[in-house]
Amino acid sequence: MEVKKFFDESSRYIMNTYTRYPVVLRKGRGMKVWSSDGKEYLDFVGGVAVNILGHCHPRVVVAIQKQAQRLIHVSNYYYIEPQIKLAKLLVEHSFADKVFFCNSGAEAIEAAIKLARKYAKEQVHPNRFEIIAAKNSFHGRTLAAITASGQEKFQKGFEPLVPGFTHVPFNDIQAMREAITEETCAILLEPIQGEGGVRVADPNYLKEVRDLCNEQNILLILDEVQTGMGRTGKLFAHEHFGITPDIMAIAKGLGGGVPIGAMLATDKVASGFQPGNHASTFGGNPLVCAAGVATLETILEDGFILDQCNRMSAYFIGRLELLRTKFPALVKEVRGRGLLLGMELTTEGDPIVRACIEKGFLINCAAGTVLRFIPPLIVQRKDIDQLVDALHGIFSKLP
Ligand SMILES: *Cc1c(COP(=O)(O)O)cnc(C)c1O
Repeated sequence: MEVKKFFDESSRYIMNTYTRYPVVLRKGRGMKVWSSDGKEYLDFVGGVAVNILGHCHPRVVVAIQKQAQRLIHVSNYYYIEPQIKLAKLLVEHSFADKVFFCNSGAEAIEAAIKLARKYAKEQVHPNRFEIIAAKNSFHGRTLAAITASGQEKFQKGFEPLVPGFTHVPFNDIQAMREAITEETCAILLEPIQGEGGVRVADPNYLKEVRDLCNEQNILLILDEVQTGMGRTGKLFAHEHFGITPDIMAIAKGLGGGVPIGAMLATDKVASGFQPGNHASTFGGNPLVCAAGVATLETILEDGFILDQCNRMSAYFIGRLELLRTKFPALVKEVRGRGLLLGMELTTEGDPIVRACIEKGFLINCAAGTVLRFIPPLIVQRKDIDQLVDALHGIFSKLP
């Protein structure tokens, strides 16, 4: 089919919620994707931090094929083998004791908000319901998730929002302390604000928030939807900060590409949920959990993958820093952890994203001016070299 026909039919039949680049992606392998006209791209977007092992990783593909032949979906009325296996793996490798499965990041956040409220009302104090989140944060697109997200652009037009949320500047412990009231039940934070422009929590910030939570019997919810599953060089980003949350939301990389999310909690907090309190028809179904098991086992067994992530991170940062010194008027800062990296520009990032597409590279721009690099953890030096060389060429030609 002619490319123009794809564009026409897309706008004719699909709701107008995305600004799309003029590319139809058809096939992927590892770091590479190919468009319908056969053009090859190196993918530094990875489905927005989803394809953690690259496109069509053989272990994930085989796990999905095998599970699809055996059993695709059954209800949570019954026990589900791959679901138990994935929960066990997550519990054995995290702070958590219990897992609830859902289908996306926003749903994991919804589940976290519901559990925090229920636990706090019933086991701390009946007046506790309020959640403090950070300005510039992003937690997803359901009504509660846009309310939690500290950015007006996601909320505008959808009011009235959900009551019981307040926002404070990120990395400001004093503001957080002052925002706490008798009604505060939880604090919700991303260890690294992804959509907000790759902003990393200060080294002591999460520790200080954790201490505040302990002092005041408030729950700490971490949104690791983007930072989890090895993205930052540890399985979960909070491991860098020497703390653990009470509740954690994960999704994106969890299934190696299939739609799955999860909300994890300690036994104590998980006791807030009883049968009937929360549910999801598709949540933790056999197919997606089989993909999740294959993905997590690959990340864990192959200690190599997290090592690779850290090695490539150091290399990537080094090369981006060099670019910054060459173009000091254009590049403000390079930041991030592992393979969640951002390069803040003094100008809009979108024209550069488009120029990259022309040259066969998929990159993303967050918060208007921050080029975001979130490649699969299997990215290699030669891939990074090619991208940075292309960026160098593009930057050189800017007016
Ligand atoms: C992507 C993202 C979400 C939302 O996930 P969806 O699967 O799109 O609902 C929530 N929180 C963070 C930090 C994210 O990066």
